Amino acid sequence: MDKERLTEAYAILPMEFTENHELPFFDECDLHDLIDAGEDVFKRKVMMTKETYHAWQMMQKIAQREGVSLLIVSAFRSYTYQAKIIANKLAKGLSLNEILKVSALPGFSEHHTGRALDLTTDDEKQVLTQAFENTKAFQWLTQNAHKFNFYLSYSRNNSYGFIYEPWHWCYKS
Ligand SMILES: [Zn+2]
Repeated sequence: MDKERLTEAYAILPMEFTENHELPFFDECDLHDLIDAGEDVFKRKVMMTKETYHAWQMMQKIAQREGVSLLIVSAFRSYTYQAKIIANKLAKGLSLNEILKVSALPGFSEHHTGRALDLTTDDEKQVLTQAFENTKAFQWLTQNAHKFNFYLSYSRNNSYGFIYEPWHWCYKS
């Protein structure tokens, strides 16, 4: 655990880091392992680990060939970035309880590993909703993602108590 980076992130928030043994903790990946992976669907820069990138590129290409578009909404997120997401929601007046239903606190997001991808497809009007499970892209991922070592992290009724996230796929080497 990189205490210093975590402490920096929590300095943005009106709370301190407390260990939560009910949730998995994720180390922030080594920043040298991250590579520029182009742009997400909102034209923001995307970073992920090299291995994840190679697997992702292959998966996206094969899906495309089979008529399925896969696009990235979010990939690597640092502890600090995660803290900023929460700080922004607090500033908008959302309660911490409401926020934590959909956003993990710094240290508890799989996106810190640089191996998790939030995905969408070209015909989705709104990204990151459970309606993603009704898309052709989700169907395809369910049948094929494991061939590229990508797995759904938060299935329905998962043991972490996280919401069902059909869009969140993680590369496991
Ligand atoms: Zn995610």
